[in-house]
Amino acid sequence: MRTVCVFCGSRPGRGLEYPEAARRLAASLARRDISVVYGGASVGVMGALADAALELGIEVTGVIPAQLMDRELSHKHLTALHIVESMHERKALMGSLSDGFIALPGGLGTLEEFFEVLTWNQLGIHAKPCGLLNIDGFYDSLTSFLDHTVCEEFVPEAHRSFMLVERDPDLLLEDMQRRHAKMQTVRNAV
Ligand code: AMP
Repeated sequence: MRTVCVFCGSRPGRGLEYPEAARRLAASLARRDISVVYGGASVGVMGALADAALELGIEVTGVIPAQLMDRELSHKHLTALHIVESMHERKALMGSLSDGFIALPGGLGTLEEFFEVLTWNQLGIHAKPCGLLNIDGFYDSLTSFLDHTVCEEFVPEAHRSFMLVERDPDLLLEDMQRRHAKMQTVRNAV
């Protein structure tokens, strides 16, 4: 796993723990020499992630639609910034540039992006690990709800297990690297 796409809030959230979690994730990525793809903003948790990763010498690639460059204050010091025409193009490019996906705390955009790449595994569009970084239990109610969707037989257990969940970035990346290796072995065998 050489490149990971990180989805996270364009706002910083209520507490200091959210930007801090982005900085801890950047440090874990740097220790493994994994580069970052993200939405290209300089604000919120997104900005904290990019600043920390760049400071640690990781390559950071942003992908931002032209119409959001002002609203999300596109980052001016990235290794590369792709300016695309639409949200759909943004997600497709972020997907194709990345070997795996992580969601840090964020809002509707973060959830939308993460669920889309999760369902691409379900549909066989790609085979790439997806991890939820559950900082201070931020995503506890979401994971409980997903368990409910399994109990009610809308989501098969095998599809539920596409989502890896950890509170610690090092543990999450270890899980994802194991899963990535397994997915590649299955892919190569097909
Ligand atoms: P948020 O979690 O709502 O702060 O948004 C995080 C990022 O997701 C921002 O860069 C948003 O522009 C992006 N985003 C919001 N809605 C969508 C969408 N439908 N498709 C792709 N990205 C989105």
